[in-house]
Amino acid sequence: MEAISTSRRKRILSGMRPTGKLHVGHLMGAIENWKRLQDEFECFYMVADWHALTTAYREPQEIRARVHEMVLDYMAGGVDPERCVFYVQSDVPEIAQLHLLLSMIVPVSWLERSPSYKDQITQLGSDIATYGFLGYPVLMTCDIIIFKAQVVPVGQDQVPHLELCREIVRRFNGFYGPVFPEPHPRLTRFAAVPGLDGRKMSKSYGNDILLADEPDTIRQKMRNVLTDPGKVYKGDPGRPEICTVYYFHKIYNQAEEKEIFEGCHSGALGCVDCKKRCSEAIVRGLEPLQERRRALAANPGAIDEMLREGGMRAREVARETLAEAREVMGLGAPRI
Ligand code: SF4
Repeated sequence: MEAISTSRRKRILSGMRPTGKLHVGHLMGAIENWKRLQDEFECFYMVADWHALTTAYREPQEIRARVHEMVLDYMAGGVDPERCVFYVQSDVPEIAQLHLLLSMIVPVSWLERSPSYKDQITQLGSDIATYGFLGYPVLMTCDIIIFKAQVVPVGQDQVPHLELCREIVRRFNGFYGPVFPEPHPRLTRFAAVPGLDGRKMSKSYGNDILLADEPDTIRQKMRNVLTDPGKVYKGDPGRPEICTVYYFHKIYNQAEEKEIFEGCHSGALGCVDCKKRCSEAIVRGLEPLQERRRALAANPGAIDEMLREGGMRAREVARETLAEAREVMGLGAPRI
């Protein structure tokens, strides 16, 4: 039998590693999703700075600044700390304590067989083959179960990670009793946003439009965006369905989308004009978010205060869960 949270709404946990300023792909995927969920669930949203350390432990100096930039983008994008618990992972030390307790019961072989562990070491080198990185799924499990979250939004590729989390929960509950609910995946339907070169938009590819980009930077970037290579001159018929510029028209310029589609197909519309119209639509579309971002950035004390409050609310719940885990594992309450 699964223990359940007493909240009326189901509880959901989602987190992002602090990558610094976010781009349009993050807005369409992660931020929009978080915004939607905050009305349906009791949401715990985390900036996962400990997870960042698993791969960036040699150059950790940037992590705190990246947390700050990311929080600005989330809040400017509509994640509302009044309607969710928004906090930084390392501000909730109870997660680390639960991680220690869980690490006592998780067989090393479960972690070593994780496909992402092997893949990441192949891709990033043996430098990341640390104790901390091996235990990444245990930390992720703690992130979820310390709040007794019943639901975790994941992409299809992350379902095996959540299955490992559920196995860990079953093992714990099997030893000590039904303390933790088994979290269930909620599949996110987000299709990747194309970057300026047609590949998936990603900071590491250098093909992104940042939410904080100035209008002139957006215009400059859009001049170099990949279009239909078969349309060279105005007058050539084009294929908007394969063009990144048209993709952005569909998001930011719905009023002109039909006209753009037909103009491209017939050849009446040239790419230079089309890109200019698209740039202006993106600039207009991001303007309200950027205004909110500037206002938030001008008041860093308020952001710190919001994170402090979020951390305190998260800790209240985390403390209770940790106390339960200590109790069933025979440790009881701390003496000091
Ligand atoms: S006219 Fe616009 S949609 Fe058509 S290929 Fe050129 S940039 Fe793309």
